[in-house]
Amino acid sequence: MKKVVKFGGSSLASAKQFKKAADIVRAEKSRKYVVPSAPGRRKDGDEKVTDLLYECYDIAAGGGAYKKILSKIKDRFNEIIDGLELNMNLAYEFDRIEENFVKKAGRDYAASRGEYLNGLIMSQYLGYEFIDAAEVIFFDEKGVFDSERTNKELAERLEHTERAVIPGFYGSTPDGHVKTFSRGGSDITGSIVARAVQADLYENWTDVSGVLVADPHIVADPQVIDVITYSELRELSYMGFNVLHEDAIFPVRREGIPIHIRNTNRPKDKGTLIVESTCRKPRYVITGIAGKRGFCSVTIEKAMMNAEVGFCRKVLSVFEKYGISIEHMPSGIDTMTIFVHQSEFEEYEQSVIAGIHREVEPDIVEMESDLALIAVVGRGMKAARGTAGRIFSALAHARINVKMIDQGSSERNIIIGVKDADFEAAIKAIYDIFVTVEL
Ligand code: ASP
Repeated sequence: MKKVVKFGGSSLASAKQFKKAADIVRAEKSRKYVVPSAPGRRKDGDEKVTDLLYECYDIAAGGGAYKKILSKIKDRFNEIIDGLELNMNLAYEFDRIEENFVKKAGRDYAASRGEYLNGLIMSQYLGYEFIDAAEVIFFDEKGVFDSERTNKELAERLEHTERAVIPGFYGSTPDGHVKTFSRGGSDITGSIVARAVQADLYENWTDVSGVLVADPHIVADPQVIDVITYSELRELSYMGFNVLHEDAIFPVRREGIPIHIRNTNRPKDKGTLIVESTCRKPRYVITGIAGKRGFCSVTIEKAMMNAEVGFCRKVLSVFEKYGISIEHMPSGIDTMTIFVHQSEFEEYEQSVIAGIHREVEPDIVEMESDLALIAVVGRGMKAARGTAGRIFSALAHARINVKMIDQGSSERNIIIGVKDADFEAAIKAIYDIFVTVEL
């Protein structure tokens, strides 16, 4: 058994958290490859080291007084080293970092130092070999992640390495510059390492006990999802679930390696297993509920619309012209409605309306703003009768007016449009009808 374990920023924010993480690694021999993030927040209102590094670099590169913030960063790492009673000193590393900041080595280089230094500490604390991610994670000259070269070289390197710490979040370009993934990108590194070593499992340790059925800011103490498929997670992430970096799925998915989301602060909790497919029945008919506010709809009415070939294409070309992406498009015989992000649409609103008039000469164009979309997702819906019925009777009981319904042909999700003001009540009502009643 071979596992890759990635620890998020809050799991490595202090010496106390580092100890928990190291205990987890030591608890199982199979936890051979460790991918650390930079130190995150120790408590609400605290700063992430990555943010401090960006800030410090911007000041230093602009010729400003950066020393104060640099010493704040040094203190964060020294506090961890002291707390772990390690015999190590990062003075040399910090001198180099400072030099490179002043020489304008780049924002990516700056941000990556959080993971780099945490990696050095972790490797010393665990007694695992340290592998600088710049030597094994590659981007091409355009800055796009080079998955195949990375996989080949990383696999070769790790074949001869029993146990290693590989910092998350960054790699290098062909000209030797450090390049990072987008924020939260250590998740991707973990996944890349898991693929390269053909791990049995990629454990992603964070500060929640798994993926929750609904947003805990809306539903009090929601249940944890035991097993979720990659496709379900993708649908929920798109609608606002924020557990894992979206791109972290791809390297492991193609190899059939499951991801296990676990809580560093509650290692006994079962967590959530993310898999390609499963015959394990979900505990409830639905797997999760997610949603987003801030949509508006444009409804176009024209008599005999359905007989006009190319009508939809002409309408959509107007949105395309202004670079507005379309979220959903329910239609009737003589009407079609287009849901778009209000923030993207507002600027071009009048031009789009004029364009629609020009293209298709509609009878009426109407707009409605302040709408929210809710996605009810679940592989169990396909086999269950009455899911839609339960959703809509729950919403009716909660006196919520449904503006739009869209069921994907996968039967894995139902999208519901409601007024922004009804957003939270709608999510609660759906959660209650599927989850609370079963408890
Ligand atoms: N430290 C980086 C960030 O804050 C990357 C990561 O934690 O995954 O975004």
